[in-house]
Amino acid sequence: MALINCPSCRIKMSSVAEACPKCGFALKKEGKADPEEVKLFLKRQLRDRMYRLKMISYVAMSIAMFGALPMLWDYIKGLETNQVVVLKEHWGIYAVGAGFLLYVIIRSLMVYTKSIHKTKWKEVNQLK
Ligand SMILES: [Zn+2]
Repeated sequence: MALINCPSCRIKMSSVAEACPKCGFALKKEGKADPEEVKLFLKRQLRDRMYRLKMISYVAMSIAMFGALPMLWDYIKGLETNQVVVLKEHWGIYAVGAGFLLYVIIRSLMVYTKSIHKTKWKEVNQLK
């Protein structure tokens, strides 16, 4: 038994382990990995992560909408009754702010995930 680097995420793992404990990449025999197999694994991993991030970004947009719609509603009602509705003081601004912030975080996580993937991809190509 020896310590090797996981072909996919590069952490140290046992060469007799069936799969990497961190990313789940399945090793075949004694730490040998086919680069094409690693690529396929990385592709699937990226797709799954991007899918999850996309779902969270939809949640973020819903949170923002959840705040924005009542704001708009109250604003229109205010116009009809000649009352000034200060949008900055409306509770909806917090939901809009939180949703927007979450959305920005998710977008940057997407960029980060893609750049990590690109780095791993280059490493796999150098293995050949
Ligand atoms: Zn791994």
